[in-house]
Amino acid sequence: MPLQLESLVPAYIQKFEAYIPSKPDPELMKLYGCSQIFRLNNNENPLGPPPTSQEVIRRFEPYKASIYPSGDVYYLRYKLADKFGFHPDQFIVGNGANEVIAFAIKAFCQEGDNIITADKTFAVYEWVAEFSGFEAQLVPLKDYTFDDEEMLARINDRTKILFVCNPNNPTGTYWSEAKLRRFLDRIDGRQIVVVDEAYFEFLDKPDYPDGMKLIPEYPNLVVFRTFSKMYGLAGLRIGYLAGSLDVVDVIRRTCVVYSVNVVAQEAALAALNDPEHIQRTRTLINEEKEFVCRELDIMGVPYVRGEANFMMIKLPISDTLAYRKMMKKGVMIRSMSGFRYPNYIRLTLHKHEAMQAFVEALGEIVG
Ligand SMILES: *Cc1c(COP(=O)(O)O)cnc(C)c1O
Repeated sequence: MPLQLESLVPAYIQKFEAYIPSKPDPELMKLYGCSQIFRLNNNENPLGPPPTSQEVIRRFEPYKASIYPSGDVYYLRYKLADKFGFHPDQFIVGNGANEVIAFAIKAFCQEGDNIITADKTFAVYEWVAEFSGFEAQLVPLKDYTFDDEEMLARINDRTKILFVCNPNNPTGTYWSEAKLRRFLDRIDGRQIVVVDEAYFEFLDKPDYPDGMKLIPEYPNLVVFRTFSKMYGLAGLRIGYLAGSLDVVDVIRRTCVVYSVNVVAQEAALAALNDPEHIQRTRTLINEEKEFVCRELDIMGVPYVRGEANFMMIKLPISDTLAYRKMMKKGVMIRSMSGFRYPNYIRLTLHKHEAMQAFVEALGEIVG
């Protein structure tokens, strides 16, 4: 039977290309002929989840796998409410922060609407908008940073959401509290402002804003956080958004409940009981960042020294070629052509052994 796909597929899906994730390690090892792989491409925490979460995962009662989880992630929302001094209904927990991006866009955008974000940032805001049929206005970064003036200038009467990644993935740059407040003041409640704080727990700068503290003052502000990065739970998929009751009540209408599994819910709850894990991780990241920067300086390789647990490095050769060369040595970095940064790579800061392997592999490429 002939399949008449053409007439079924919207134009904005026809032109959209699916994202192809990396293959599993055993397949990559066969492909590149290496015996182990340091995954330095996804900004995961090399220390894994906090011991409190590890204990919960180890003791998970297998029978509970047959029972649906709490549909609205009840206990975690109560815990977050307590931690931040909000009402539990001010939170929506999703299958990773990735899922709550889609909730927010679906809740506010309709045909003809647009969102505004940067050209070189976490790509999911742009992707969800475009494969849902909405326009994504991409404002070029200025000095590796979100350009507030140009974002404001691009707002029109069909703009619904502005996405600010703070600190930005992949550049690690951030807006100060003063800059974020100025931006919110000028938007004056006319659009939703999402501040993605996926790396919040890595920063220790006095002028770095805590979006949660601004929510009571700015009811159009929505903050994203995740358990994937600092809390080492990327494999369980859990993240959340927070905002004013009015805004979150709207976003909740687009949520598919039961998307957060029971192990993730319990492990995330336990993760919040281990503040030492954050300090341990920060110490490791800071030490390894020093090490990598020193080695890059010696090699004369330029880089962007941003915040969080990753760094962007500029190579004298193509980033996709560098990816293949490094994979043969068991080092997996993120090539940045897909982020519109040709010849740049993003490196996840990791344990010393992995950083040494990276420096060695890079030395052979640029040397
Ligand atoms: C990793 C990341 C996320 C999403 O993480 P989830 O694993 O889906 O929770 C969101 N935003 C940024 C900027 C990220 O780097």
